[in-house]
Amino acid sequence: MSQINFYQNSIDQSLDILKTKKEGLSPAEVQQRVKFYGKNKLVAVNKEPLIFKILYQFKGMMALILIAAGVFSLIMGSYRDAIIMFSIVTLNAFIGFFQEYRAEKVMDSLKSLVIAKAKVIRNGKEIEVPSEELVPGDIVVLEEGDSVPADLRVIEENTLSTNDFSLTGESNPTRKFLHPIKGNVSLGERNNQVFMGTTVATGNGQGVVISTGMQTEIGRIANLSQQTKAEESPLQKEMDNLAKKISYITLTVAIILFVIGITLKFSLTESFLFALGIAAACVPEGLPAQVSVALSLAAGRLAQKKAVVKKLSAVETLGSTHIICTDKTGTLTTNEMTVQKLLINKDEFDVTGIGYEPKGEIIKKDGSVKLTSDELKELSLFFENGVFSSNAKIRQPDKSHPQWYSIGDPTEAALMTLAEKTGINSAKIDKENPELREFTFDAFRKLMTSVRKRGDKTIAYVKGSPSSILERCTQIWDGKNIRPITSEDKDFIIKKVDEFAMMALRNLSYAYRELPAYDPNAKMEDVEQDLIWLGMVSMIDPPREEVSDAIKAALKAYIRVIIITGDYALTAEAIAKKIGMNSTSKDKTITVVTGNELQTMSDIDLVHKLIYKNLIFARTSPEDKLRIVDILKKSGEIVAVTGDGVNDAPALKKADIGVAMGKTGTDVAKNSSEIVLLDDSFGTLVTAIKEGRTIFQNLIKTVNSSLTSNFGELFAVLLSLAGTSLFDFPLAILAVQILAIDLIGELLPLTFLTWDLPQKKLMTTPPRKPNEHIINTRSLINVTWCGFVMGLFGYINFLAYFYRNGLSPQGMVSTNMIYIKATTLTYITIVLIQWANIMSRRAGDSESVFSGYFWSNKRLLLSFGISLIFILMIVYNPIVQGFLKTAPLSLADWGYAALSAIVYLLIREAYKLGIRWNLQPKAKAVRA
Ligand code: ATP
Repeated sequence: MSQINFYQNSIDQSLDILKTKKEGLSPAEVQQRVKFYGKNKLVAVNKEPLIFKILYQFKGMMALILIAAGVFSLIMGSYRDAIIMFSIVTLNAFIGFFQEYRAEKVMDSLKSLVIAKAKVIRNGKEIEVPSEELVPGDIVVLEEGDSVPADLRVIEENTLSTNDFSLTGESNPTRKFLHPIKGNVSLGERNNQVFMGTTVATGNGQGVVISTGMQTEIGRIANLSQQTKAEESPLQKEMDNLAKKISYITLTVAIILFVIGITLKFSLTESFLFALGIAAACVPEGLPAQVSVALSLAAGRLAQKKAVVKKLSAVETLGSTHIICTDKTGTLTTNEMTVQKLLINKDEFDVTGIGYEPKGEIIKKDGSVKLTSDELKELSLFFENGVFSSNAKIRQPDKSHPQWYSIGDPTEAALMTLAEKTGINSAKIDKENPELREFTFDAFRKLMTSVRKRGDKTIAYVKGSPSSILERCTQIWDGKNIRPITSEDKDFIIKKVDEFAMMALRNLSYAYRELPAYDPNAKMEDVEQDLIWLGMVSMIDPPREEVSDAIKAALKAYIRVIIITGDYALTAEAIAKKIGMNSTSKDKTITVVTGNELQTMSDIDLVHKLIYKNLIFARTSPEDKLRIVDILKKSGEIVAVTGDGVNDAPALKKADIGVAMGKTGTDVAKNSSEIVLLDDSFGTLVTAIKEGRTIFQNLIKTVNSSLTSNFGELFAVLLSLAGTSLFDFPLAILAVQILAIDLIGELLPLTFLTWDLPQKKLMTTPPRKPNEHIINTRSLINVTWCGFVMGLFGYINFLAYFYRNGLSPQGMVSTNMIYIKATTLTYITIVLIQWANIMSRRAGDSESVFSGYFWSNKRLLLSFGISLIFILMIVYNPIVQGFLKTAPLSLADWGYAALSAIVYLLIREAYKLGIRWNLQPKAKAVRA
């Protein structure tokens, strides 16, 4: 189909060529076409071959050091060492590759969770289908904020324009039209077509699919592997950097060790291998991969909890979120609207029924009598207005929806249900009174208008927020007649708006006017004036069940919650009270700032307002939202912002974490965010923040544990060297053994440490500071000291072994069985202390290791078990013994190693006790 220049054809010609009609295809035709054209999907071309991904693993500093060591060993005839070096590099590379591959898979599967959907007309009915299922000939309905799901020839439009930047480089929205274009024109000029990968900037319309998948313009030029290249998160960069720095440092240490080796009269090979081995041992080789796996696992866990992370860095930022700016409708509330009250002239009515099912009655408030069908007919002008000025549809329950459901804006769907409850056939009247033009809803004017042909008349049906409508009305309908609107009428309406809003109801009003004639070029401001007030509907949008607990949890975790809503101040305040926004602070006052007040407020005044607790910004425009977020960020806060509309995009982009709504959010909002909440809930956002904090806490534990043992190994070697030069004692541990500690002794436990459950105080302490590094001076001193103790114990056990066996280590040769056993003891001492160290660090810097938390990470405990089996093989299996120069130990030897681990643990406990004592007076001071 793509060879045909559809832009040169008229709409009818295009429909003919594609063998379709405006009512769309039938399911049978769709099935046939899917078979022929395949899925509407872009497939990655030029994907990086697997072999490159594996080879990439060998390019790190640490791998290069080991490869060099292996090659030199080969040259020098030390085949055994060469085999060990090469196996370690290969094993490490495969582990790294596997971990990264897994991380990539998690991210890929996350992307598929945010399934792109398209609204399509099939068999004359508008339905929603996954965009993948579109076929040429399908009629697609487009609305503001939608992603264009395929290449389309526009067949209907209403101020339709799209953002074509990704395709044509044009940064302003491109206005679309219907008429054919003569001659051959470039892509950027085919303005009766819209293209896959672009988004609808304004208006709405319909288009017929002309090409799908790789046949689309973007499919033809896409090099997806480039587009989807994963960006490293700051933490991953920090880890890469750290590993690199340590590599350089250790390379320098290696050179010094080599020189020392030579001066101590080791052979050239021995000195060289020793130096390289130590260098390799000191590099926390697994760390960068562990960090990316930990982050992607966290992303996977978040997805299970319905928060899809689009960038790994978002997981980190979540953990340091200080402020959540949340909108109200759909995030704090369910966004399942039901009209409950009506106000027509001075008469108030109650509406029965719940949800979108059109079953219920209209009851006059004072008389408690339900209106008869005749009485309802008399009021049809009012109810029809809701249908004419809405685009949403309501649908009966089906396989995937147990209840009546809405397609489109839930607020509008509630109006459809209301009209149907009075006996109006909404589809019929919509068809009989065709829309000529629509001025779509926007969050600035807070209203929308549908200009329709009604018989020989042209009528503008308007609906919107009561104040926006009221200020445009000059007349009022009293249920029968029209008369000028008085200030008394206005006061009465405003009083009622407040009264309903205080009951947490969301108000919307209707108005209309007859236009002298239809003018396609008429200006919006001219149409939306001189209106006739018809009345008001008030709908309930109940708070979500989980929100009140989530708000409390956020406040307890020192995270501030600011509501920024387009809705009316009193409604927002009533909802805020219902969800307990002011329940935890001593001062229960809720401060409400309206959009109008914001307009006249200077930035300085706004900064002062932002200090207030329990803050709501009501009747705001997206610009206000952007300004608030901007000022918060300038004051150094880490801000998460929720949003759903096209106009929210700038604020979402500006935020440290943009959070889009998965259900009601527009594609533009989703594209501008780092996180998509699949269930739209504030509660999910708070859960995600908790996960972000957990993962950061776990990474601190992993990195510090890993570095401690690297330092431990280094100190064991340095002490050995001191012993060699001063007393001619042999080395306490061999390079290959050190590598075996890293790979066999601690790799699994360190990996499973990132699965740790959140600690008790995680959500009762303030968020982490954004510039807080995992490795800082304090933690460096701590790991160096702990590493020293570890190395010292290893060395003491080594020396003690000789004396227990009645020998002196002085001048001991490396082939002596006692020496081999002594090095094996150093080895298991360091491994066991490292395990104690992992357990101690996971409990935190001040908490005792001996608590219920000890048993909470079953995977970690299991990984110790598995690692122990490997260690036993190292110590007792003759083949492995030959490779690693180890020898069997007695139970008593194990006892000495275990005792060292226990003493290490006790030293750490004493240190923590000191910290707790130190903290106590401070905590009291804070509480006071
Ligand atoms: P939040 O920003 O917290 O999600 P909201 O959805 O109520 O709140 P907006 O979408 O900006 O905020 O709506 C502001 C006001 O505009 C509403 O209070 C309502 O009166 C009116 N309104 C909302 N949706 C429509 C619509 N589809 N047509 C006409 N008016 C609407």
